[in-house]
Amino acid sequence: MSMSTSDFIQRLKNGENILIAEGYLFEFGRRGYLKYGANTPEVVVEHPELVEVMHEEFVHAGSDVVEAFTYYGHREKLKIIGREDDLEKLNKTALRIAKKVARKHNKLFAFGLCNSTVFAPGDEKANAKVRDMFKEQIEWAVEEGVDYIIGETFNALGEAMLALECIKEYGNGVPAVITIAAYFPDITTDDVPITEACRLLEENGAAVVGLNCARGPATMLPLLREIRKTCKGPIAALPVPFRCTDEFRSFQSLKDPKSGKHLFMNDLESVRCSSADIRHFAHEAKQIGVQYIGLCCGNFASYFRELAEVYGRTPPASHYSPDMSMNSVFGDEETGVTNALATKMKEFILGIKQ
Ligand SMILES: [Zn+2]
Repeated sequence: MSMSTSDFIQRLKNGENILIAEGYLFEFGRRGYLKYGANTPEVVVEHPELVEVMHEEFVHAGSDVVEAFTYYGHREKLKIIGREDDLEKLNKTALRIAKKVARKHNKLFAFGLCNSTVFAPGDEKANAKVRDMFKEQIEWAVEEGVDYIIGETFNALGEAMLALECIKEYGNGVPAVITIAAYFPDITTDDVPITEACRLLEENGAAVVGLNCARGPATMLPLLREIRKTCKGPIAALPVPFRCTDEFRSFQSLKDPKSGKHLFMNDLESVRCSSADIRHFAHEAKQIGVQYIGLCCGNFASYFRELAEVYGRTPPASHYSPDMSMNSVFGDEETGVTNALATKMKEFILGIKQ
């Protein structure tokens, strides 16, 4: 175990919160460096400097963890885009960039292992292939000295368990954080209640268990309360910053409030969370006792700063947190200092005078 690995476990034991910014895939899509649909992270080898910058942004905004951007950087997905030959290079490059930023800022260095898209309950041949895929990625992560490994977005308990088993078997003692993607029902796609799935993962040695992706803050919170009752150890919550509702529990199901059109995955702007939504979520999560907290797909730095501040942090980005008292038009509401033209401008801007 490296110093930082024991540090991760010790920090959890001390009751410290761990903040983790994720959402690289969606954010690179938004910036024009990743193709939605394929969702593969070739930006890692094509523009490694941009990946480093995004890690820096998230650390600046309060992330305690730098997670290598290897989401869907596994054998099966790279095969689809004809780049299976780049598999090892992509994984090692992603690991080295994340390690560089983590070590520079004394943050935790993590590797992300995601759902394989190959797993099939009861299909031994398919699942042997999944095991090989997990094994090769875990071994690269260990070689690069990760502090812990994240197994994420599993919708089947069987695959989550397989990931945990592989981390235990090939991970050379690095801790595992395992999170499940909950869609509409509170059960996994292999029909296990999600609370029970989390309990089993915890019982089998995951250092942290919980939920990531799929649900927004409003639809993740009720299930988190149940998980908190079921699990003894630290729990994780990384919702997507979208306005999911009971009618549209997963962000993949969201529709445009105006047109009624299905929005996933490249037209979601009209259902984004507000910054206030993120603060509200963070307050609730803190109350529940969510110790491992973050944001998934749709996250960007200013959302993450909101979350970090509610969790009592003042990351470097807090230096630039909004202060409307400094605004030349709206500032008088905060300071009481009025200016005749500014008052008139405000009336015009807000339509008070028409
Ligand atoms: Zn996600």
